[in-house]
Amino acid sequence: MASILQCMACGQQYPINSVMYVCEACGGLLDVEHDLDTLRQTHTRQTFDQRLGSLDHPHKSGVWRFKELVNPDVPDDLIVSFPEGNTNLYHVPRLAAWAGVGSMHLKHEGENPTGSFKDRGMTGGVTQARVLGMSRVACASTGNTSASLAAYAAFSGLEGIVFFQNKQVAMGKLAQSVAYNATAIRIDADFDKNLELVRQVSQDLGIYVLNSINPFRLEGQKTIVFEILQQLRWDVPDWIVVPGGNLGNSSAFGKALSELYKLGWIERIPRVAVIQAEGASPFYEAYLRGFDHLRPQKAETIATAIKIGNPVNYPKAVRTIRATNGVVERVTDQEIMDAKAMIDAHGIGCEPASACSLAGVKKLVGRGIIGSSERVVGVLTGHVLKDPEAVIGYHADTLPNLTGTYANRLYEAGPSVEELARILQRNQEPMLA
Ligand SMILES: *Cc1c(COP(=O)(O)O)cnc(C)c1O
Ligand SMILES: [Zn+2]
Repeated sequence: MASILQCMACGQQYPINSVMYVCEACGGLLDVEHDLDTLRQTHTRQTFDQRLGSLDHPHKSGVWRFKELVNPDVPDDLIVSFPEGNTNLYHVPRLAAWAGVGSMHLKHEGENPTGSFKDRGMTGGVTQARVLGMSRVACASTGNTSASLAAYAAFSGLEGIVFFQNKQVAMGKLAQSVAYNATAIRIDADFDKNLELVRQVSQDLGIYVLNSINPFRLEGQKTIVFEILQQLRWDVPDWIVVPGGNLGNSSAFGKALSELYKLGWIERIPRVAVIQAEGASPFYEAYLRGFDHLRPQKAETIATAIKIGNPVNYPKAVRTIRATNGVVERVTDQEIMDAKAMIDAHGIGCEPASACSLAGVKKLVGRGIIGSSERVVGVLTGHVLKDPEAVIGYHADTLPNLTGTYANRLYEAGPSVEELARILQRNQEPMLA
């Protein structure tokens, strides 16, 4: 049986190659469903381990290595891949100690071709655009989706169209989209409004929408979890911790874990913790109310990648929390920036939203939800260079309402050996001993 599109609300099925983002019958979100019963008989997880280190298209991609669980029927020559994925999983005992857990790894998705995990979804989405014969692809974005869409569209000769909010887009992301030759439009509206606009305009003009409402993107993002498990030699951790904005990753992670469990390739399901910024935490608030329903918010946070008040993937993210016995937590901008300073000072680095993972682990340990002997994997979603203004602002202690708790002072000196010696002979404690 081939893969199909299926409504998560009413179960209605559609052919895999329909140009459709929500169910025509009920408006519910669509899943790409694969034939797991056949896959269980024809493949084992060793199939995917054997492809590690491949030099060949498409298996050299950390996404398409798992093609059978991403988009099995697409012809290889239509796959648009840089390649992406194959990101590092860092063992970070000193950060684990800071957060209060016995063992922690950080999966650095900022190491993807355009500097964020969005590339894993975009390779799936732009490939599907080619399968469907579309010549234009569009998204609304807080920045990283646009950077990624712009690159994948350019690489494959499609027109990329990106809608930005006119305020608070991190400099690195804006620069990338313009550099990669997208049709970039700044609009006087926030992300949530821009998403509405892109859906309307694209429908009117026959453009393929590549926001994370597009189920093919989530199929690509599942491979973050597949790779983590491969890198741990399938030794399942206790927790996977991920920042939550539009909740695409949160949704994809639950689907990935359920599929692996159904296939019998993992013996238990790790708990997923989704971490939101306090000023953009509608998912957290719904969680506290037992997921009665989502109440959209006006979002505000320094972590612009997750400055989202009305996450489109809410129902799928709820499904993840239920399927994994997961939790939702939120952290303040101060906690985010302090955790980021720790990750940065470790030589790893990430953008503000990514630091929700470490800040969230610390908070959940403090609240007794993550046990101090548990094994935790945190996901870093974006690269440190995405938002240089946040870095410099923190260390110069010039960010409004925030303190540079762990600021690394930038010294000034004249061209004098004595002056330099005075600076270098001061007592400096390393931040992470
Ligand atoms: C998009 C993005 C997020 C939010 O991910 P969702 O899947 O929308 O929850 C977090 N961090 C970074 C760096 C991002 O680019
Ligand atoms: Zn439906």
